[in-house]
Amino acid sequence: MECPTCGLFQRIPSLAGGQVAECCRCGAQLERRRGTTLISTPLAFCIASLAFYLALLVSALMTLNVHGRQNTISIHSGPIELVHQGLGIVATVVVSCTILLPGLVLGMMLLILYAGSRPELPRWICPVLAWYERLRPWSMIEVYVIGLLVAYSKLVDLAIVNLHAGTFLVGALMFTMAALDSTFDAEMIWAHGSIRSLPGLTSYDATRRPLPPSQNMLACSTCQLVLLSEAPVPDQADMGDCPRCGQILRRRKLDSVQATLSFLISAFLFYIPANLLPVMTVVWMGKGAPSTIMGGVFELWRSGLYFLAVLVLFASITLPCLKIVSLSAMLYCEWRRKAWHLVGMSKLYRVVVLIGRWSMIDVFMVSILVGVVRFAFLSHVNADTGVVFFMLVVILTIFAADVYDPRGLWDAVGLNAFQPVHPVAGDPGEGGLQKEGHVAICRPERRWSILPKPRARQGQVYKSQPHKPGQAGTFRLPAGDRKGCA
Ligand SMILES: [Zn+2]
Ligand SMILES: [Zn+2]
Repeated sequence: MECPTCGLFQRIPSLAGGQVAECCRCGAQLERRRGTTLISTPLAFCIASLAFYLALLVSALMTLNVHGRQNTISIHSGPIELVHQGLGIVATVVVSCTILLPGLVLGMMLLILYAGSRPELPRWICPVLAWYERLRPWSMIEVYVIGLLVAYSKLVDLAIVNLHAGTFLVGALMFTMAALDSTFDAEMIWAHGSIRSLPGLTSYDATRRPLPPSQNMLACSTCQLVLLSEAPVPDQADMGDCPRCGQILRRRKLDSVQATLSFLISAFLFYIPANLLPVMTVVWMGKGAPSTIMGGVFELWRSGLYFLAVLVLFASITLPCLKIVSLSAMLYCEWRRKAWHLVGMSKLYRVVVLIGRWSMIDVFMVSILVGVVRFAFLSHVNADTGVVFFMLVVILTIFAADVYDPRGLWDAVGLNAFQPVHPVAGDPGEGGLQKEGHVAICRPERRWSILPKPRARQGQVYKSQPHKPGQAGTFRLPAGDRKGCA
C-alpha cells in the first residue's frame, strides 16, 4: 500500500491481531490489526455509545445556584442562548460538533457494522464508510468534556454548582466513543468489499513480479486500494471512480498547495482579531468587564487552577500558532524543494492533524457559560465577536491541514520517483514476511480472510532501519523476535 504521509509504495506482511505496520521511511502507521473481534466488540461499544447519547439528549448537565435563584442547563441550552445573543454561526457549529455529528457518526457506524457482518459487503455502504471517516473528526464530544470541566472550575468558586446525570453521561460517552475508535478496523471492512473492473487501470499482483514504477501506481485515498496504470498517472487528474469504494481517484490531492495557502492566510488574518477582541463579557453581581482569551488564562492562573490555565493557553494560543507556522514551513519547503527534516516534518503534520480539534475547548466553554449564567441584569455572560473570529481560526486551520498533501514534501525532492526493481529470489510470497534487504513491493489485492491467531507478541511493531535517500523500503524485525514471527 501507499504511505499516506510520504507516498512510498510498500508491501506489508499479513498482520496478526494487535500488530502494527509502520512506514519504513517516515514512521506513519500504515495498518493496525486490532486484537479484538472485527464486528462484535465495536458493536458493543457502538450500542453503549448510542444509549449514552440518547440519554444525554434528555438529561440536564448542571444547576447553578446563586443566592437561591437556580438555572439548570442541558447540552442544547448554550446554543439556544447564543442564538438569542445574535451569534447564530457559533451556535450552529457548537450544535453540529456536539449534538448532530456525534449522533450521525454513531448511526453510520451501526450501519457499517451491520454491513460488515454480511457475507458480502453491500455496495451502498461504501459512501457511508467514506463519509464516516471524513465526519468522525468533527464529532467533538471529548473536546466538549474538557470545555465543560473548564466552565465548571470557573463557576465552582463563585456559586453552588450541582452536577446532574448529563455530565456523567457525556464523560461516559467520551470513553465509549474512544473505545469504539480503537476497536473499529476500517481496513478489514474495506478488504471485505468487491472490486469492479475499471477501464485503463489494471489490478496487478506484484508479489513475485517486478515492482512497477511508482509514477504508474495510484492509491485510493479512501480505501487504500492500490491500482496500476499502463502509463504514468498524472498527479492531479480525475482517474474515475475507485473500483472498490466508488470515490474519485486522484494520485495527489487537488490543488493542495494553493488551497492550503488560502486557508492559512485567512486563518492568520482572523487570528489577530480573535486574540485582541473580547470573547465574552462576564457580569457577576452587577460588576464585570469584557475578557479576551489571554485574560481568561490569567484569570484561571490567579484562581490557582494552574493545570487548566496551561491547558487553555496551549489549546487556544499555542495550537493555532503552531498549526499556522508548521503548515507554512511545509509549504515553504515544498516550494523551495528543500529536503529539510522530512521525517520530522511528516511527524509534525500528523501531530497537527491529530490535535487541531482541541482548540475548540474555548468555544465550547463560552457556549456553556452563556447557557448557565443567565440571571437577568445581576449576573450574566455575553458572548462577544472575538469568539466568532477564534472559531473561524480553528475551523480554517483544520481545513488547511485537511487539504494539504504531505506527500508533496517528498515528491518535491524527488524521493518518490522509483525505477522498476526486480524482487530478490526466494521471496516468501503471499502472506509471508519479507526478509532483510528486500525491496518494498506493493500488493494491490488482499484477500478477505479470518484474522489469524497472533503469532508474535501483542503490540509488536515492524519497523525498518533509518532511511537513507534513494533506498527502497525494507522491513526488518528486531533480532530476538525474528524466529517467532517468520
Ligand atoms: Zn511514509
Ligand atoms: Zn477506494
